[in-house]
Amino acid sequence: MAVPFRRTSKTTKRMRRTHFKLHATGLTTCSNCGATIKSHTVCPKCGYYDGKQVVKKD
Ligand SMILES: [Zn+2]
Repeated sequence: MAVPFRRTSKTTKRMRRTHFKLHATGLTTCSNCGATIKSHTVCPKCGYYDGKQVVKKD
């Protein structure tokens, strides 16, 4: 098995890990009310999906 020639320095390791980030995925804004919602999901605020009201909200 191949073995690394040099130990990866703390700086190299840390610089590589600066790109390891979490980011919110699958979030969009509602086309009706503008609230931040999960994509492919009925808006929980106004009950709209694909520009149509599919769930009655009062
Ligand atoms: Zn909405």
